Amino acid sequence: MANSLKKAVFNLMEKAFTHKGFVLAVRKWQPESMYEIDLHLPDIDMEKWTTIPRLKCKVSEFEYRDYTPATWDVQKRICTLYIETEHQGDGSSWTKNLSAGDTMLCSAAHAAPLPARTGKILCLGDGSAMGHFLALKQLTNSINYPFEAAVFLNELYTPPASFTAVNPEFKLMMQPQAKSLEILHQFVENKMLSDYSSIYVTGYIPMVQGLRKILRNAPGLEAKVFAQGFWS
Ligand SMILES: Cc1cc2nc3c(=O)[nH]c(=O)nc-3n(C[C@H](O)[C@H](O)[C@H](O)COP(=O)(O)OP(=O)(O)OC[C@H]3O[C@@H](n4cnc5c(N)ncnc54)[C@H](O)[C@@H]3O)c2cc1C
Repeated sequence: MANSLKKAVFNLMEKAFTHKGFVLAVRKWQPESMYEIDLHLPDIDMEKWTTIPRLKCKVSEFEYRDYTPATWDVQKRICTLYIETEHQGDGSSWTKNLSAGDTMLCSAAHAAPLPARTGKILCLGDGSAMGHFLALKQLTNSINYPFEAAVFLNELYTPPASFTAVNPEFKLMMQPQAKSLEILHQFVENKMLSDYSSIYVTGYIPMVQGLRKILRNAPGLEAKVFAQGFWS
């Protein structure tokens, strides 16, 4: 695309980023790369977030990345994002440079549906899907939708007590150098998959594709599989 046309398209896109966000706090999981960002979005009505949402954030000139509000307070209009930053990328650099008091631009949209039927939910993914799974947990009640998540992390974190104390359903599988697909495959091999009504698979695209294939061939599986690739 010619440069002037590209600029015109981006200028049009920019107009869609109408929401201003205010960074309230930035927390880092020790030792390094998982960031929790608290955002105040005064002009977004979070009551409308009845499916798993996403925020498209402007991370640099003409660069936009999707991040998932993991938890949110409808009254205060504050949400928290979980962002992985171990790799090099515009989104990752933007995240590492954020601090309380900063402003940002974003637009909000739907990312994924809730389960169509009641019953147990199993979530399988990597660190980029942490917010997605937390949002699903917030949007479903644990009586009708018992919830379980297995998250592969490629760093040896000390997860903060503020996370572990309220999220006992999350099994964090921290294995630097390992492959997410292999670790999550081993995990599902030890599961009675026929127990679940819905399975969400989210994160690294080749992992999502591989696990979806494995699940499709799993004997006794009746669950609806919601697969969503985030990055490759
Ligand atoms: C609907 C949706 C919701 C999303 N929600 C979240 C979220 O809540 N949290 C989150 O962290 N991400 C989320 N993502 C992914 C995010 O939008 C970016 O694609 C990702 O963070 C990479 O952006 P980047 O600019 O840092 O790296 P890019 O410039 O896109 O990629 C640079 C390099 O880093 C590698 N890479 C990218 N992401 C990762 C990763 N997580 N781990 C290891 N290597 C990586 C790529 O393979 C590439 O080689 C979501 C994506 C979608 C589509």
